[in-house]
Amino acid sequence: MSNLNIQKIRNDFPILSQQVYKKPLVYFDNGATTQKPQVVIDEELKIYTHENSNIHRGVHYLSEQLTQRYEDARKVVQKFINAPHDHEVIFTSGTTESINTIAFSFGEKYIHEGDEIIISTLEHHANIVPWQMLCERKNAVLKVIPVNEKGELLVGEYEKLISTKTKIVAVNHVSNALGTVNDVKRIIEIAHQYDIPVLIDGAQSVQHGKVDVQELDCDFFVFSGHKIYGPNGIGVLYGKEKWLNQMPPFMTGGEMIKKVTFEKTTFNELPFKFEAGTPNYVAAIGLAKAIDYIQNVGLENISTYEKELLDYATQKLEAIEGLKIVGTAKEKVSVISFNLENIHHYDAGMVIDKMGIAVRTGHHCAEPLMQRFNIEGTIRASFSFYNTKEEVDKLCDAISTVKQMFG
Ligand code: PMP
Repeated sequence: MSNLNIQKIRNDFPILSQQVYKKPLVYFDNGATTQKPQVVIDEELKIYTHENSNIHRGVHYLSEQLTQRYEDARKVVQKFINAPHDHEVIFTSGTTESINTIAFSFGEKYIHEGDEIIISTLEHHANIVPWQMLCERKNAVLKVIPVNEKGELLVGEYEKLISTKTKIVAVNHVSNALGTVNDVKRIIEIAHQYDIPVLIDGAQSVQHGKVDVQELDCDFFVFSGHKIYGPNGIGVLYGKEKWLNQMPPFMTGGEMIKKVTFEKTTFNELPFKFEAGTPNYVAAIGLAKAIDYIQNVGLENISTYEKELLDYATQKLEAIEGLKIVGTAKEKVSVISFNLENIHHYDAGMVIDKMGIAVRTGHHCAEPLMQRFNIEGTIRASFSFYNTKEEVDKLCDAISTVKQMFG
């Protein structure tokens, strides 16, 4: 049993006390984005009200103060994922930009005709399309690790795919569509036997439990601020210094340079080489606040409580006739994707919404995964530590209504 005081936690998130359609909001779309605690909202307000100034450029008071706060935020992220150095933490706009940066920069330097890149069937489009386009540009080949019926990666098949032709492996830590937790440590170990770097898309893992990039030994790790109770428009690209130093910049412009003449430009050192232009310093500081917040709640408490919610919801949903859960991996985070027999997921989602319950319907930006299961999409309920068993019961009631209406 977890020892979190959920009511107290809910009071930290102002949006949760809201009503929609005159019903208390039940927010089960945390996989898409999480709500923000008041401390994060206040932090951004405080910066714009009292502290705003562009960073790294001015010698004046406000600029120096805020530059320090931005660099402190980088250190908070460094500690949070246990990166060896703060200059290995690059701020981006989100997971999507982080992956594109790596695909362009690493791809520019290391991918050549005939090389192979391995991803998995479980990937979000953000970890498919950048690699697919890179393969098109370089005449390289994209290989895909298959999944079993439960939505678990077939590591044996991965071992067959990997070879000296492989130049990078990019997989998610947790599947956004099914909630599967992948054994990324094993995937990394196998790749490292061939000296192949591995990128872990952590967009759906960092908010559910402790991540230690040194323990995983991943070469790159990326995530988004808005999915971890932080602001929008900020994300993280962690990379081992040995790779980042070798890789060329992706975006160019202000801040990322050492010296510019019309003849030649030399580049700044890490992390600035990968942070062209004015970064979203307000959101970076807000992200550090969000990290502080969840660390105070405790990542172990969060995983224990969310596991309880997952088990409770799985049991309740499984008992509903005609409901089929898609993704039944042994290791899962608090995400349940399901379909209702003979009822389209959009129709179900619309009715559930009218009961004040926010769930996601569709392909969850994972169309190839949906194709693997021969479905167009699912209804996805993704739970956070601020959700309750009573809310899960409300979802079950709403599903009964859907069945009555369409049955
Ligand atoms: N990867 C995964 C696993 C995701 O769940 C998401 C967001 N749904 C992304 C990448 C893209 O994240 P963002 O839109 O914040 O860039």
